[in-house]
Amino acid sequence: MVMASAGPLQDEIASGAAPSQSLSAKGFSAEGLPVIRLDRVEKWYVTRDGPVHALAATDLVIAQHEFVVLLGPSGCGKTTLLRMIGGLIAPSQGRLQVMQRDLWKGQTRQSNAVSDLGMVFQDANLFPWLTIEENVALPLELKRTPKKQRLSRARALTDLVGISGFETRWPYELSGGMQQRAAIARALSHDPGILLMDEPFGALDAMTRDTMNIELQYIWMKTRKTIVLVTHSITEAVFLADRIVLLSPRPGRIDTVVDVPFERPRSLDVQMTERFQTIARDLRHRLAENA
Ligand code: ADP
Ligand code: MG
Repeated sequence: MVMASAGPLQDEIASGAAPSQSLSAKGFSAEGLPVIRLDRVEKWYVTRDGPVHALAATDLVIAQHEFVVLLGPSGCGKTTLLRMIGGLIAPSQGRLQVMQRDLWKGQTRQSNAVSDLGMVFQDANLFPWLTIEENVALPLELKRTPKKQRLSRARALTDLVGISGFETRWPYELSGGMQQRAAIARALSHDPGILLMDEPFGALDAMTRDTMNIELQYIWMKTRKTIVLVTHSITEAVFLADRIVLLSPRPGRIDTVVDVPFERPRSLDVQMTERFQTIARDLRHRLAENA
């Protein structure tokens, strides 16, 4: 069956393409095009008790196809940083570019730059009165994509995230993990190049979380999205990332950047290796020093 055109992801899903070889090799991302660039990006919040310095001037470049994890303790500015990249809040200072375009001009968000972004939060936030496929296709409905096209897109995406067969169910009929899969599908519906995820599996039990980490890795390998994921789990960070950006608090700032060398696809067994445990231990020590 030939589906209505909805971009390269559609074709890849439709053809059931296997993850390309180049993506399984470490180093693929290192030469990639910079798709997110922060130059001295800083954030102050204005509160009743005075200004809060949430993020000190931060420089960061993220390359196309890279999987970057922002790791740090609660309150160190991870969400602030991700929401600025996502265009949800404006930086107080500095320059932020997505796909070589300025995301903000003063306090005004540039809508052409956000079209390349999809976001996933800790809660799936599905609309209870819409079916799963209607939820997944909602961003396309808002963009006035014809119904037939958006439903075929929704079906390709529910297949990608592993919930095909549940398209016409209601959100309450799905487990937390499956709801979160639907939220990932929804974030991918308009085929953004970049997926931003804020503790997406933080509310799930440990076993479901392991499964979701493996699945997310396959989604990344199949779709070649650039992913920026926030977590405070060291194990999750080392398992998922090409590169871990460790943040320290008061005010939030980049403390250390760690490259993660494991080949993909990674299985949970990689967590048992000495190399994995050494990286995790070094991160834990560094976090303790900064506490
Ligand atoms: P994290 O996601 O790492 O837990 P946040 O980015 O949520 O950190 O918060 C960083 C700091 O900014 C914290 O001290 C937090 O209390 C403060 N903060 C976050 N959002 C706001 C806000 N809307 N108004 C005032 N302070 C805020
Ligand atoms: Mg947060």
